[in-house]
Amino acid sequence: MSAHTWNDAVWQRLLLLRKQLPHALLFHGRAGIGKLALAEQLVQLVLCENPHADGHEACGVCPSCHWLRQNSHPDFMKLQPAALEESELHTELADRKGPAAGQHISVAQVRELTQFAQLSSHRGGLRVALIHPAEAMNAAAANALLKTLEEPPPNILLILVSHQSSRLLPTILSRCHQIRFALPNPAAAQSWLAQQGIREADVCLAQAGGAPLLASELADADYQERRCGFLTGLLKMNAADTLRIAEHHSKQPLPDMVHWLQLWVHDLASLRLAGRLYYQLDYEQELRGMAGRANLSRLLDFQRRLQAARASVQHPLAAQMVLEDLLLEYAGLFE
Ligand SMILES: [Zn+2]
Repeated sequence: MSAHTWNDAVWQRLLLLRKQLPHALLFHGRAGIGKLALAEQLVQLVLCENPHADGHEACGVCPSCHWLRQNSHPDFMKLQPAALEESELHTELADRKGPAAGQHISVAQVRELTQFAQLSSHRGGLRVALIHPAEAMNAAAANALLKTLEEPPPNILLILVSHQSSRLLPTILSRCHQIRFALPNPAAAQSWLAQQGIREADVCLAQAGGAPLLASELADADYQERRCGFLTGLLKMNAADTLRIAEHHSKQPLPDMVHWLQLWVHDLASLRLAGRLYYQLDYEQELRGMAGRANLSRLLDFQRRLQAARASVQHPLAAQMVLEDLLLEYAGLFE
């Protein structure tokens, strides 16, 4: 059994692979669907010294299982960006924003891994390294990892977890056995969210684009309050309001606001073109009303503009000015 039922089929595949484990695995798929949890489950299983159920389940009580829980296993190492170590956010949500300062995996970290991989195992089994998210490696770090991937020492298992595997070097991709994770079906995702005590599971799941772990983080009351405060401002905005609204939200992280605008505009465009709404179920009525009034070609231009803004949003020189420009353009959609 996997940590999340929708990943059971992948888990079965991994159990079959176990008999002849490749030295490098790449778990890839959307953020927020449980790749990291399954990678950690696999780490525990391959390091467990007394696995149960025909070797399909870690025992939970041997020294190895104990050390893993304490984050002190001598044969295990996890590489992730410094920002994730410090973050109180669940990792999946933190890296939704993409790598920025302190959010890279550095070449120094990968060199540590190289040394770790060369040493022999303390417990006579495998040595395991987990890299999460793999796309956070900068170019130097990725090149340093290649050496280990090309000439792997015996008894090493590398598990790379990636939410955007298209950003990895082709030479890294080709050296890894790839395991693709699909989005769960909405019914499974919603029933899991309900079990976590999340109300309005369908609304949060839609905002998360169908990724349940991300949805459970987005259900956070403070996050929803900030989001609704911002979206409500979009309902009746005209060009004269943009300065005031940009000022009002100047303390909010710009990446969040650009993300909300993107989903908002995506829904407006898809309502206009196909009558379908994807992300903001809680604003359906308002969005349906507005979609008819929007200028379609400006809407599509604005969508592209937001995509470009998203790419540079991690290092905004003047966040309030960027926001003001975006809101001004947004207000122009309805003139
Ligand atoms: Zn064990």
